Amino acid sequence: MGQMEGLDVLACERCAELCESRTQIVNGVGPADADLLFVGEAPGANEDEQGKPFVGRSGDVLDETLREVGLDRGDVRITNCVRCRPPENRDPHKEELANCREYLETEIDRVDPEVVVTLGKVPAQHLLERDVAVTSEAGEVVDVPIEGTPRPVMVCVHPAATLYDSSQKGTFEETLRKAAEFTDGESGQRRLGDF
Ligand code: URA
Repeated sequence: MGQMEGLDVLACERCAELCESRTQIVNGVGPADADLLFVGEAPGANEDEQGKPFVGRSGDVLDETLREVGLDRGDVRITNCVRCRPPENRDPHKEELANCREYLETEIDRVDPEVVVTLGKVPAQHLLERDVAVTSEAGEVVDVPIEGTPRPVMVCVHPAATLYDSSQKGTFEETLRKAAEFTDGESGQRRLGDF
């Protein structure tokens, strides 16, 4: 009942309600071998319309902050826990997260990033499988077994949090800086700021 090709889900009808609410399936974007993989919650209205994750205001914050820490959106991979827009932007239900988990795990396994960064509470709790206080745990790295391989997962606040609470801006930027440094340390990859 779900068809994947490479990192993309081409067809899926596992969630009846999301099949109704979506315009299209929103797959991840960015290099298939990225060192950094960001995982958001679910597509919103802009993402549903354009078919790409994080293209609305949250995406602008993410792009700007990536640049501030010496990265470009094109250098990283960005995906979501759930690939179809929930109605009225509600949080995805447990069952929807479970239905889509196989696609996320396959993407993480195939991209093989140095670190997975969760954007907000839903992806943090989904991958860590426990309650997470994202503001106080931001920047913490936990190894999570995915398809049998331990994957470092870094907790991060959602970019939209910085729009509602300016004190979260520093937390968000600091976490992205840490993630960028984490990938430098793991792979020796050079960032824009080095040139
Ligand atoms: N928020 C998310 O969690 N994901 C998106 O793709 C956009 C906004």
